[in-house]
Amino acid sequence: DVCPVGALEERQNRHSGPGEHLVRTVCNYCPVGCQLILEVRRGRVLRVGPDYEAPANRGQYCVRGRFGVSDFVHNPLRLRTPMVRKNGTLTPATWAEALGAAAEALKNTPPEQVAFLASSRLTSEELYALQKVAREGVGTPNLGWDLPDWSALEPLHTALGKVGPTATIADIEKARTYLVVGADPWETVPVVGMKVVQYTRTPAITLPPASDYFNYLPGRALLPGRERGSLILVNPRPTHLNRFADAWVKVRPGTDAWLIAGLIKVILEEGLADPEFINRETVGFDEFEAALRDLDLGRVSRITGVGRDELVRVARLFARNRPALIMVGGGIVRQGRPAVAALVALALVTGNVGRPGAGILPLYGTANSQGALDAGAVAGLGPGQVHLDETPDLDNVKTCYLVGDSFDLEGPAGLRLRRLLEGCETVIVQGAYASPLLDFATIVLPGATFAEKDGTVTSLERRIQRVRAAVRPPGEARPDLAILAEIGRSLGVDISPRPAEVFAELAERVPGFAGLDYEELEFEGPVVNPLPEAFKWPDLRLAEAEPVPDGLVTVYPGRSFYRYDLTTFPAMLKTLTTVGRDRVLEVGPELAARLGLADGGAVRIVGDGWDLVSRVRVSAELAGDAAFWDFEYVGPPGGNGRERVPDPYAPNPVFGPVKVRLEPVSG
Ligand code: SF4
Repeated sequence: DVCPVGALEERQNRHSGPGEHLVRTVCNYCPVGCQLILEVRRGRVLRVGPDYEAPANRGQYCVRGRFGVSDFVHNPLRLRTPMVRKNGTLTPATWAEALGAAAEALKNTPPEQVAFLASSRLTSEELYALQKVAREGVGTPNLGWDLPDWSALEPLHTALGKVGPTATIADIEKARTYLVVGADPWETVPVVGMKVVQYTRTPAITLPPASDYFNYLPGRALLPGRERGSLILVNPRPTHLNRFADAWVKVRPGTDAWLIAGLIKVILEEGLADPEFINRETVGFDEFEAALRDLDLGRVSRITGVGRDELVRVARLFARNRPALIMVGGGIVRQGRPAVAALVALALVTGNVGRPGAGILPLYGTANSQGALDAGAVAGLGPGQVHLDETPDLDNVKTCYLVGDSFDLEGPAGLRLRRLLEGCETVIVQGAYASPLLDFATIVLPGATFAEKDGTVTSLERRIQRVRAAVRPPGEARPDLAILAEIGRSLGVDISPRPAEVFAELAERVPGFAGLDYEELEFEGPVVNPLPEAFKWPDLRLAEAEPVPDGLVTVYPGRSFYRYDLTTFPAMLKTLTTVGRDRVLEVGPELAARLGLADGGAVRIVGDGWDLVSRVRVSAELAGDAAFWDFEYVGPPGGNGRERVPDPYAPNPVFGPVKVRLEPVSG
């Protein structure tokens, strides 16, 4: 598609000629679930195109899916053989030796001292197998890493009977209002971000300079036959969608639950609720309303930094223009359950659930976060999202089994993971790449990338789609399910190495999945979003949503368009790291003036037991005492070599905001 006659070629594929066959699979970066067509020749992925018929992306994809696959699969850092540490050195071993050593360590460690850390980029079958090994084979509840944070998402489960969306990507076309909270869909889930832009832009909009990639967006004009929708953004920081927004609510960091509760209060006071929906389809409204009765809008304004008039304007904009779609990002989930509960209540009070164009769309962090929830690979949540009374404890881990390639030793969660691994006697690393994690590994089990395995993943709209092997793993590397099946067998747990059989087992345990057949997922995977007979009002528990105390600066780690997970995926994906912006700490002008930080200057970020130096960008529109920092951070110019950031304030180690002190650096 660069040039229809092939006179112009992508540099990556120069003179490579055509592929021998095509394989349809699902992109493994973000949770949109774009179906990709991999062009393969002689065991190599040559190039990648979008599937024009695929329901989630309809021929669209982003730079990550397009240029981030071939480098990723055929990377010189791929692990090719099992290894076992002997006399301090990782030494090639047979599969039998490495698997035997791993099983022995798991058997001989007290269950409460074993942890399983997994990437939610694994397939649902692998995640299901992993939780079986952990719970049935070892008997530990210690599951973690970039898996969704169940405790924050619990209000969705209470109200909707599941943690998951109540809308699809296609609902973007039918919505009249878009409320985007704590998210930057343009950066994190670009195909969804593009779709929102298509339905909220005005034809008269001023286009940015030609160098801006936005100019290459297909469908510049508003789609015909449609009025533009209203776009409301709630975020302390401006995002790419700001230029299309009808309202940007610059909420004080950490106070979203109060803000949303304030909007609900206005909606109820002004008679903008949907009483028919509330009476017909919900239970527990009286208690909810009573709990909100004493909420003072003046107090909401003081806490959130959003004026009363703005609260009223936004509440009217949202409630009067239905159907409305609520997109919830990691910025909300990391604030804990009150913010999620408030958003669920906002959807219920306006009847924006279970109707075309209405609902809640969680913008998860990784490709198979929804699959991890459904497979039960989350502490506190078993297969089928059955709530389990279990409490993970990662403070005294002696044997740690890490599966997948999302482990970041240098980013926001790096120090915590390093400390955990330093305290271990056995570290089992099952992954596709040689990474700094190998410094800690006692046993290495080489796994496969998504282009080398079969299985399913579940996208943010809860669409179950097939992942297909296009090429073979290098050397002796194996698909991760096959490895987990072997480990399970050693521990007396029956796990099939065949994805179809594991999917059948999983489908029996997940409500709504029953009757789904692996083979029938061949082309258009179904969306599985059953709704309960009645929606239950969540308990807001606003007192738990205490705002960030004055005087502290909250750094929000986030993702960027080009560098999505490139510190955890191999950072040397040349095709993606040749583009993109510099790593900077963005601060607002008030904070910059108060602390003496200059635009373009350097700042020392001091946390609890760590510090680093970064360049500063003063962003005129950043609100309050918040700072934003791209967590795909691999060390800024002038960095001091200790670029590790723990996030002791967040239950989920990857996405939490960090409270820090900022000091200007002279010279
Ligand atoms: S939008 Fe997400 S799923 Fe689609 S190509 Fe980009 S990274 Fe992959």
